[in-house]
Amino acid sequence: MHWRPFRRAICERLRAAKLFQTPLALLEESVTNLFSTRENALVATPARDVTIATQPSQERFALPQTSPTKFDVIVVGSGASGGWASKRLAEAGLKVALLEAGRPQSDANFTEHQPAFELKYRNMATELVRKTRPVQSVFDVCNEYTAHWFANDLEEPYSTPKDQPYLWMGRVRMTGGRTNVWGRVSLRFSELDFKSASHDGFGEDWPLGYKDIEPYYDLVEKYVGVCGSKEGLEHLPDGQFQPPMPLTCQETLFRDRLKEKMGRVAMSARSANLTGPLPGRGPCHYCGPCERGCMTHSYFNSAFTTVADALRTGNCTLISNAMAYKVLMDAEKNRATGILYIDRNTKQPHEVHARIVILCAQTQESTRILFNSAARQYPNGLANSSGLLGHYFTAHVRSAGGSGDFPVFDAKPNLGAPTKPVGIYIARFRNLPGQPAAKNFLRGYGFEGEGGIDFNWGAPGFGEAYKKALREPRARIGITGFGEVLPRWENFLEIDPSVKDVWGIPSLKIHIKDSENETAMIKDIGESAGEMLEVVGAKNIRTYAHPSAPRWAVHEAGTARMGTDAKKSVLNQFQQSHDVKNLFVMDASGFPSNPCQNPTITIMALCVRSCDYLMDSLKKNEI
Ligand SMILES: Cc1cc2nc3c(=O)[nH]c(=O)nc-3n(C[C@H](O)[C@H](O)[C@H](O)COP(=O)(O)OP(=O)(O)OC[C@H]3O[C@@H](n4cnc5c(N)ncnc54)[C@H](O)[C@@H]3O)c2cc1C
Ligand code: SF4
Repeated sequence: MHWRPFRRAICERLRAAKLFQTPLALLEESVTNLFSTRENALVATPARDVTIATQPSQERFALPQTSPTKFDVIVVGSGASGGWASKRLAEAGLKVALLEAGRPQSDANFTEHQPAFELKYRNMATELVRKTRPVQSVFDVCNEYTAHWFANDLEEPYSTPKDQPYLWMGRVRMTGGRTNVWGRVSLRFSELDFKSASHDGFGEDWPLGYKDIEPYYDLVEKYVGVCGSKEGLEHLPDGQFQPPMPLTCQETLFRDRLKEKMGRVAMSARSANLTGPLPGRGPCHYCGPCERGCMTHSYFNSAFTTVADALRTGNCTLISNAMAYKVLMDAEKNRATGILYIDRNTKQPHEVHARIVILCAQTQESTRILFNSAARQYPNGLANSSGLLGHYFTAHVRSAGGSGDFPVFDAKPNLGAPTKPVGIYIARFRNLPGQPAAKNFLRGYGFEGEGGIDFNWGAPGFGEAYKKALREPRARIGITGFGEVLPRWENFLEIDPSVKDVWGIPSLKIHIKDSENETAMIKDIGESAGEMLEVVGAKNIRTYAHPSAPRWAVHEAGTARMGTDAKKSVLNQFQQSHDVKNLFVMDASGFPSNPCQNPTITIMALCVRSCDYLMDSLKKNEI
C-alpha cells in the first residue's frame, strides 16, 4: 500500500488523539520525511528514475520529492531583489518559500576585523583560490577570506565564443547573494534614463517613468541606509540620504577644482553604508573591508536586513542549497505551479509548489532558469513567445580611467588608521539634454574613484634608505569610468547543450562584445579622465582605455526586457511575464536599457513596486 494519499488523514488522527500539537503542515512534513527515510532504507531497488532534463541528455535523477507545504509565493534567489520580494510579501502575510542556491549566511562568517596574518596563507595564496575559482578570483573581493562564499567555477561552468571572452564574476552562493560583497554605490536613474530612446533614438523606452518609481526609491533608500549629498542634478536625482561620508583632503581638492574649472560635479559617493543608526544596525566605524561582512550591519546586505526581516515574520521559509532548475508548469492552464530544484549537497531533485513564482536569481541565472523550463508548449524557453528572451544583454564598460598624484597636506601614512569605505563619484557629463552631443557615441558614463595617503610602496633602494623612502607619504587619486552599454540584439545568452553544472543543469553560453559605440566611449573615458586630472592639478598622470572583454562590470541586465508590447518584450512594467501571468522576474533581467549609474538601488525599488502590484492583483483575483 502506498501511504502518501493517506498522509493528511494520518496527521489529523494524530492531532485529534492529542499525540502531537504540531501545526498540521509541519506534522505532514515530518511524517513525509519519516516515511521517505523508511522507504529509502527498506526498498532494496532504487526509487523509480525519471529524466527531467529538457535538453537532450542522458542525466537521470531520482523521482523529485515534493514539499508538502503549499506556499503562496516562491522567490528564487535571496540577493538584492529576492531579499526585498520575500520581505515585502511575507510582511504582508503571504507564505513565502525563499529558494537560495547558496548556504546560510551569519555574522559568525564575517572577518572584517581579522588581520591577514591570522589566515592560514596570510591572504597571499592567490594560486590556491584560483584553482577552484579562476573566474571569481579575478575580482579581488574573492580572496582567502571569502573564496568559499563564491561559486566554484569548476562546478558551475558556462561558455563563450572564443573571440568573446567574458568573466562572469560575483557569483556568490550565500544568503544575500552579491550584496555580501558589492561596492554599495547607490545611484538613482533619472527620467532621461527611463526615456533614453526618445532622447537619442536608440532602443526602447522603459514602460515606466521616474515619477512611477520615485516613491519606491524613497522607501528603499530609507530602509537600506544610503549616505550621500544632495546635488540638485536632474540627471542624477537626489534621494533620501543619510549624511555623506567626508571627503579626504585630496578628494576635496579634486571636487572643488573640477567644479570651478570645468563645471562638473564630483561628490562623496552615494553609498549603502550607514552614517547614522537604523533599527538593529549601527553606523559605520570605518574599519574598511565591507566585502568581508560587517558585524555591526552598517552596510546593506540582504542577508541581515531584508531576508532577516522576512524570516522574522514567520511567513517565510528559507530553503538553502536549493539550485533551481526549472519552473514547473500546468500547461493546460498555462500557469506556473512551482519550482524543481536540485539540492546542492545530496544532488537530489525536489519540487516546491505555490500560486506565484518570482525569479530573483540575478540576470543571467533567471534567464537560464527560463530557458531550462522549455517544454513542448514552450519550445524556445518559458515566457518567450516574443523570441526576445536572452537578447539585449548588457553590462557596464569599466575598462578606462586614470590616476595622478596629489599634494599630501602634511598627512602621515598609517597602517592601522580608519579606512573610509566610500570614495568619490563624478556625475555623467556627456550627451545630456541641452548640450552638444558627443561626436561618436550615444549615452554616457560616470566615474567612481578614491584617493588618500599611503606609504611609498614602490620606493626604490634597500636598507635604511629604503625604510626612509617608504615612509615618504604619497597621495594619489584614481578614477574609473562606468559606461552605459547599448542594448543590442547581438549580445545574448543561450543554453549551451554541451555544458552542464555538476547538478546536471544545462549551462549558459554568453555572447557579448564591444560595439563601435562602446569602443568610442571607452576612448573618451580615458581621455576625459586624463583631462580632468590635468585640470585639477594632479601630477604623474596615468590613463588607460582597454576593450571591455573579458572583464565587464558586474552590472548585468536586460535579457527579459519589460515593455508594453508583448511582441517586443518579455515582461510588462511590473516584471510580470506577458505569457504566464503568475510568473515574475524581479531582478535586472527586465531592464530595457542599462544606464551608467550602478543598478542595484533601482533593482530593489522596482522589485518592491512589482510586489505591490502583485499583491493588488491577488486581491482583485487577477492572477
Ligand atoms: C564585487 C561587486 C561589486 C558591486 N558593486 C556594486 C555597486 O557598487 N553598486 C551597485 O548598484 N551594484 C553593485 N554590484 C552589483 C550588485 O551586487 C547586483 O546588481 C545585485 O546584487 C543584483 O541583485 P540580484 O537580486 O539580481 O542578484 P544577487 O544579489 O546576485 O542575488 C541572486 C541570488 O540568487 C541565487 N541564485 C542564483 N541562481 C540560482 C538558482 N538557480 N537557484 C536558486 N538560487 C539561485 C544566488 O546564489 C544569489 O544568492 C556589485 C557586484 C559585485 C559582485
Ligand atoms: S567599513 Fe563600515 S560598513 Fe564596512 S565593514 Fe567596516 S563598519 Fe561595516
